[in-house]
Amino acid sequence: MTRPVDLMRPEVLAQPAYAVAGAVGMLKLDAMENPFPWPGELEDAWLDALRGAELNRYPDAGGDSVKAAIRSAHGIPESADCLLGNGSDELIQILITAVQSSGRPVLAPVPTFVMYEVLARAAGVPFAGVPLDEDFGLDVPALLRALETQRPAIVFLAFPNNPTGRIYDPGLVAEVVAANPGLTVIDEAYAPFSSHSFLPQAGSMPGLMVMRTLSKLGLAGLRLGYLAAAPEWIDALERLRLPYNINSLTQRSVLFALAHTGVLDAQAGILREQRRRVADALALLPGVRRVIPSDANFILFEVAPGLGAVVFDDLRGAGILIKDVGRATGRLSDHLRVTIGTPRENEVFLAALAGILATRLRDAQAPQIGR
Ligand SMILES: *Cc1c(COP(=O)(O)O)cnc(C)c1O
Repeated sequence: MTRPVDLMRPEVLAQPAYAVAGAVGMLKLDAMENPFPWPGELEDAWLDALRGAELNRYPDAGGDSVKAAIRSAHGIPESADCLLGNGSDELIQILITAVQSSGRPVLAPVPTFVMYEVLARAAGVPFAGVPLDEDFGLDVPALLRALETQRPAIVFLAFPNNPTGRIYDPGLVAEVVAANPGLTVIDEAYAPFSSHSFLPQAGSMPGLMVMRTLSKLGLAGLRLGYLAAAPEWIDALERLRLPYNINSLTQRSVLFALAHTGVLDAQAGILREQRRRVADALALLPGVRRVIPSDANFILFEVAPGLGAVVFDDLRGAGILIKDVGRATGRLSDHLRVTIGTPRENEVFLAALAGILATRLRDAQAPQIGR
């Protein structure tokens, strides 16, 4: 019998499959989803828009009408063409496959979005992580050195970054793009919540590509991402895209959603406002050591030493799921990431967290008699 070890690379088999925490019945604040459903009348109109979709036919292979709608809704500049992906995860995979045989690594400041490293390793491409500075900002001298010594094929800059939520200084990002002879992919997954974008420069700064997704805006279930870059690069990458990667229902739904983008934009506005409220409240909680300023729809915060995993587990016990990012990387020990929810969800989370921290801090201070 042929077994996986006989045919697959050991690095791939050593890597666990991407784990998604079970969340049935939980308050779900772990995955940067938009918590707001569509108003009922909009949902009805959407179902009407799906009626008549010919599921017996293949989808529009190029997704041309979707591209045109995105171009005008998001302002993709004339200088750039656009590649559609089944989520931006697929675009990252296409990009890495494109440079696989160059012998050059993929590079990113770390900690960052895990899929850059996961997909590089899966493709047999080396991954080079350059540590961020103390405040999770770009360490430009270290990056410039790494560009020279490692000659990466692609530098991924999540802007704002996940899991920190921080946006890098745009001037420093431009410096890195200018110094990088390879590709720089600016991953703007959190654009709806962010104060700055490089999309207007896509296709005009050499090597710059801007990647976005509709997931965090409120369409995570549809799986649609796009990459805006110079036409020469989009032409080349199109050769690696699977012919029908964007299914018919997604195409129809995206056209519908972009025609009603006001609803999603208003929801993003509420979430930005709530982000400020949650950040202010977190900063006042005893047991919270620091709150990292966020330009995304989540907040990274650090709790008292040794309490990260405990607080995460206590919250889960109370039916609230956030993300314990300290488990994955040493640098982030005792750091927790919470997605911004509805005003009510945020209140529930903050009240539960305040109670858990108070109990745990009191227990830590109590004399350990008779135990
Ligand atoms: C969530 C996220 C993505 C993935 O987006 P999909 O389009 O849902 O695949 C990409 N980049 C970053 C930085 C993210 O946080």
